[in-house]
Formats: sequence, structure tokens, C-alpha cells
Amino acid sequence: MDFPAYPLADYLAHRVAIDEAMRRVAASRAHILGPEVEAFEREFGTFLGGAHVVGVGNGTDAIELALRGCGVSQGQLVAVPSHTAVASVAAIERAGAVPVFVDVAMDTMTLDPAALDIAWQATGGTIKAVVVVHLYGCAADMGRLCAWCRERGVILIEDAAQAHGARWEGQPLGTIGDAGAFSFYPTKNLGAIGDAGAVVSRAAGLPHRIRELRQYGWRDRYVSAVPGVNSRLDELQAAILRCKLGGLDAANARRRSLAALYAEGLADLPITLPFAPPGTEHAFHLFVVRTERRDALESFLRERSIPVARHYPLGVHRQPAYEGRIATFPEGLPATEQIVSRILSLPLHPHLEVAHVRAVVAAIREFFCRREK
Ligand SMILES: *Cc1c(COP(=O)(O)O)cnc(C)c1O
Repeated sequence: MDFPAYPLADYLAHRVAIDEAMRRVAASRAHILGPEVEAFEREFGTFLGGAHVVGVGNGTDAIELALRGCGVSQGQLVAVPSHTAVASVAAIERAGAVPVFVDVAMDTMTLDPAALDIAWQATGGTIKAVVVVHLYGCAADMGRLCAWCRERGVILIEDAAQAHGARWEGQPLGTIGDAGAFSFYPTKNLGAIGDAGAVVSRAAGLPHRIRELRQYGWRDRYVSAVPGVNSRLDELQAAILRCKLGGLDAANARRRSLAALYAEGLADLPITLPFAPPGTEHAFHLFVVRTERRDALESFLRERSIPVARHYPLGVHRQPAYEGRIATFPEGLPATEQIVSRILSLPLHPHLEVAHVRAVVAAIREFFCRREK
């Protein structure tokens, strides 16, 4: 059975509108920070329930600029899970800050508020900011994290790169903390045809600072008020994102219904299924199961041409660029270590058919039944 690749299938589903949008931008007078970026910022803000949106070059830049815009500076400590895309951590170092790895909760696989206490003690209460990652589209424990940060005057940044349209207690993820960072990398729930990202906030002051930072620190044209970067959202990408935004809720609903089909088909197997905490809406960017027989199951599915993957094969603290360089406390990261050894991402995106999910379920059932004989 052939599994369609997501970015291409998503383009084909929006082809007429996207082709028209690309022609419109090419033939326009404004190729940088023009009407498409402005319109997308407004429309994505409305989608997020009235947040301010500033388009930037990619999701990694969005995290870096959110940290800088919130006042995180050179040498300050920023807590972050190790079980995440490397980008979450790379952005902290790009902002000049120092990552502090914190373990995740076993159920949601997102930042564990109890583990934050350990980091707080170990650092003598010097953590300046927390980057929480809504990994796979699952909301982190925002109730406890917001309270924890508020009590200590710690800045809370949401890495919502996998959580477009997901919610916690009715609030869109990315709009709850001091700032939210989105990526529109082609594989994301809302994906461009190239790199793109955005910084989101409810407060009025931050967007202004991000607008300066994203373009050479300009306050007025050719006059830099602060040291900035070049990280602008592209007009072409903004126009493409506008074509897809209207269908995002329906695409997420489709992901959820396919996820429910997986859950139903796999419920009686010795597999840990994704967990959506009560009061949250999961975006199912990925459908990640856990099993002690991960390696064998992975090979079994690959032999049957089922595209599975590990997100991610190593905790960031085990990646060669970071290992030994960034402290993990004596307690280590036991939940992260166990999770990384057991995770497997099954195929899931809105352009899959029910038959694809049924085929994957059948193959997984065959794997576990064979082994039991
Ligand atoms: C994709 C992703 C990023 C980085 O986004 P880019 O646009 O590739 O820079 C950051 N964090 C998480 C959790 C991601 O999945």
C-alpha cells in the first residue's frame, strides 16, 4: 500500500489556490513584508482567538526572538525539555542563554512541573525563563506551569511548533504563556512550501519588539534601535499559508479521527497510546506509541513499507553537539531516557485514508500475535 507524503498531498489539496497566490505575489510590487504577510498575521491572530502575530523566518528564530523580546539575555538560564526537537534548545543558545534540561512527564511526554522544582533547587532559583514544548500536538500541563512561573517571576515561552490549533481549557496553545513560537516548516500541521515561522503574544508590547528584532533592529527605516537579525516571513510563504489556514481546523479534526481509529485498533495490545489530558484538544502532529519491543516492531513495519519514524532518536542531552556540555542534574532525566527508547511514530496526516490506518493496525496486530505464539 502506498502512503502519500504529507507536504506534497497538502499542496495538491490546495493546488488551485496556491498556484494563484504564487502568481499574485510574483507579479506584485512588494516581495518583502508586504500585504500577504500583514494579512496572514491578522488572519492567524484571529484563528488564535485574537492574539498578536509577527511573522518570522522559521520556528527556531521564533523561539530565539521570543526569548530576546521577553528580555532574556546573555548567560541567563532557560529550562527546556531534552525530549524535543533540537531546535527548541538551539534557539536558547542562539539567544545567548544557557539551556537547563528538565525531565518530562510519563503520560504527556511534555515538561514535568515537578522536575522544574528540581532544576530550580539545583540552580539556586536562577532560572530566568522556561521553554515548554507541546510535543506531538499534546498540551503540556499549562495550569501548573503558568502558576509555577507566575509565583517566581519566570518568563514562560510556548514552543507550539507541533501544536497549531491545539487547545488547553479552550485556549489555543501558543497564546497562554508570555509568548508562543510557531514553525510552518512544510511537515507541520500548518506548513509552508519552505521555511516560515511566527511569534505570538497576547500582550501589546512584545510584537513591537519582535518587529524590530526581525529586521536589523530597525525602528525607523535604516536606523537600528537594537541589534537585530534578518528573520522575516516571506511574502510567498505568507500567501501560501493563507490558502491553507481556512482548512486547518478541518485537517486537525481529520487527524483526530484517524488517531481515534488507531487507538481503537490497538487498545488491547501491550502498547502505550498517546494521551490527551482532560480539557485539552490534541493536534496530533504525530501519533507516537510506546513499546518495549520498539526496535523489532519498527523493523517489522519497515519491511512492510510502512513509513514509521523516531521523533526523536536521541534526547538533546545525548546529541553529540550537546552531550557533556550542558549539565543534567545528578538525578538525570529518567523519564526522557525511557521514553526515547520506546517511541515510534506511526503514519498520520489528514490526507491518509482510513484504509492506510487499518493496514498499519493490521500489521501491528500481526507483529504482536506472532510473537505471542
Ligand atoms: C519544527 C520544530 C521547531 C523548529 O522549527 P523550524 O521552522 O524548523 O526552525 C522547533 N520546535 C519544535 C518542537 C519543532 O517541531
